[in-house]
Amino acid sequence: MNPETQLTHLGRPQSGPVNTPVYRASTIVFDSLAEFVDAREHPRHALTYGRYGTPTTFELENLVATLEGAAAAALAPSGLAAVSTSLQAFLRPGDHLLMPHSVYGPARRFALGLAEWGVETSFYPPDCGADIAGHLRANTRVVYLESPGSLTFDMQDIPAIAGVCRKRGIVTIADNTWATPLYFQPLRHGVDVSINAATKYIVGHSDAMLGTIAATQAAWPAIERTVNLLGVCVGPDDAFLASRGLRTLAVRLEKHARNALDVARWLQDRPEVAQVCYPPLPEDPGNAIWKRDFQGASGLMGVSLRPQVGPENFARLVDALRIFRLGGSWGGYESLIFPIDTQALHGSAPESEGPYFRLHIGLEHAADMIDDLRGAFDAAGLGQSLHLSGSNHE
Ligand SMILES: *Cc1c(COP(=O)(O)O)cnc(C)c1O
Repeated sequence: MNPETQLTHLGRPQSGPVNTPVYRASTIVFDSLAEFVDAREHPRHALTYGRYGTPTTFELENLVATLEGAAAAALAPSGLAAVSTSLQAFLRPGDHLLMPHSVYGPARRFALGLAEWGVETSFYPPDCGADIAGHLRANTRVVYLESPGSLTFDMQDIPAIAGVCRKRGIVTIADNTWATPLYFQPLRHGVDVSINAATKYIVGHSDAMLGTIAATQAAWPAIERTVNLLGVCVGPDDAFLASRGLRTLAVRLEKHARNALDVARWLQDRPEVAQVCYPPLPEDPGNAIWKRDFQGASGLMGVSLRPQVGPENFARLVDALRIFRLGGSWGGYESLIFPIDTQALHGSAPESEGPYFRLHIGLEHAADMIDDLRGAFDAAGLGQSLHLSGSNHE
């Protein structure tokens, strides 16, 4: 089955109502002692207790595992909970953790907090490829990956990094949120654990928080044990919304990506724009890896303005936008702008020192988005005040 067919046919009943019902359960009652004992021995394989799941969550976990090419998958109450649970599954006092400079900020903060548990974290350049070997220590237990990275969209050579780590028995965990399991499958490139902020494209409608953790056969026991020990579980309504979101993931992503490329090309021609950070652009430093490893793109990009664009211009630009709303998160159907403090970027940054922001390109008509951006650039008075015209190619 192709992934589009998996998205429509798996993870739901094959007869009766089309969708898996929303099971609300804590207590499960049994007919016999034998059934009770059997369920307690395999808590995530049968109805045992609400915390271990119901058909609503089992069906979603199985669909995610199939898409990721994983042995099994678990759900977490947020993307960040998927990150923290996966790290706790493998790290012990005395261990060393490596993260890319461009890692998602809250994941960075969690990792640094692990110092209180005796785990040391250091950071590596996301574009290091097989040179990751030079950053490994005798006690390196986990190498974390995120491609493209948060905010700066640096692509990573995941097969090269994962290859070095697997040879040395080092666990790799990849944050796959930007590509979704539809357009990249880290486990098929040598990674041990793939996590997703399902809050973004999988839920897809900005109305629920959820994370997924998919693992290889070898990595799954540590994930399952930690999920069970910590009591990581999700509500049935959120699982239902994620299952519903997955049904349309393929058509939504196609449109997000088409719109994003139109907007990115338009932005590249604006005189105020120094750089558009979006791996599908041929000019992007990560384009070759993106083309080699990914089957598609989503709608999230970084936009760096020229240093001549001051903070007042930038504030006028943001405030003039009507279709792009100012807000965090992404992956819903709607377009968003999110200003980024470049002072807070670690180790990887856009080339220009001008204002930097992230755009999530939604499902609106691309022409309306471009009109909105054009109006905002004009309202900011940037082109005129800078005496710029025509082209940013210098
Ligand atoms: C949003 C995000 C997360 C965290 O997901 P939440 O559901 O918001 O906790 C993790 N990684 C990346 C790359 C994200 O963008």
